[in-house]
Amino acid sequence: MSETQREGLVVRRYGGFYYVFTGEAVLACKLRGKIRDQVVTGDRVVITVLGTGTGVVEKVLPRRTELVRPRIANVDKVFIVFSCNCPEPSLVLLDRLLVLASCHGLYPYIVLNKCDLDPAPRAVDIIDYYPRAGYKLILTSAVNGEGIDEVVKEVEGSISVLAGPSGVGKSSLLNAVFPDRYLPTQEISEKTGRGRHTTRHVELFSLENGGWIADTPGFSVMDLPRMKREDLARHFIEFEPLAAYCRFADCLHYQEENCAVKESVSRGEIAQFRYQNYCSFLGEVIEAERCYR
Ligand code: GDP
Ligand code: ZN
Repeated sequence: MSETQREGLVVRRYGGFYYVFTGEAVLACKLRGKIRDQVVTGDRVVITVLGTGTGVVEKVLPRRTELVRPRIANVDKVFIVFSCNCPEPSLVLLDRLLVLASCHGLYPYIVLNKCDLDPAPRAVDIIDYYPRAGYKLILTSAVNGEGIDEVVKEVEGSISVLAGPSGVGKSSLLNAVFPDRYLPTQEISEKTGRGRHTTRHVELFSLENGGWIADTPGFSVMDLPRMKREDLARHFIEFEPLAAYCRFADCLHYQEENCAVKESVSRGEIAQFRYQNYCSFLGEVIEAERCYR
């Protein structure tokens, strides 16, 4: 790197500019010809500093993780948000998001928001089971502020996204984490000037502790990524260590005999609903395998 070059993080893309945080300032940057369309929010880049407040992106550094919808690079952690009630959480959706997080190499937190309300039965299942299975759970309320500092603490030094269905309080949580931040609504497309065709790029918001949170929820597409059927169990953290004790090395924990996972289910350690979700995802993975062949 020459004297005028800096490493930075793309925190926003707007109006043909890439806004790069260098640790000292945010510079509005254009791209050096060849790398057009290859730079997304979250990318670590090398820029040449030009004059006050501007620069040129020279190079994109290798990505650690990559989300496609929304497009964002280098996310470390995902906060999977459900609400204690109104609406009641879906355990199928939770397990799907946990698998997706794991497939993308993201560290998952389960957030149960609206803990100021009485928990619905499925919320009680989450509280009872998932921490025991090994997942981190945070109870929050965007209304009374409970748990918000814990979320802030976990975001420290990372790039995080929220995920989860609508109505659970994701925007409210963002507003609670950034009390003085105005959350942007959809921007009008520069090309057409009309409101219909909207292009909104993800923006990263910075916390004082050096963490970043994306303003857009992750995983707008919930299809399981392409994988081998025997790899699915790796994305269920409490199944993974048991697999070594199954009779067959390639056990799918489905119809095989002497399966340590199924034995754990029958002893009531692995929850029945969790195993059922695994079996239903396994069906999906096998079905998808057929399509790719
Ligand atoms: P999003 O669709 O996930 O972004 O959810 P919103 O943030 O739009 O919230 C959906 C609704 O839930 C709104 O009416 C909020 O006022 C309400 N809400 C959000 N957080 C809480 C909370 O912690 N407790 C209660 N009781 N209501 C909440
Ligand atoms: Zn097995």
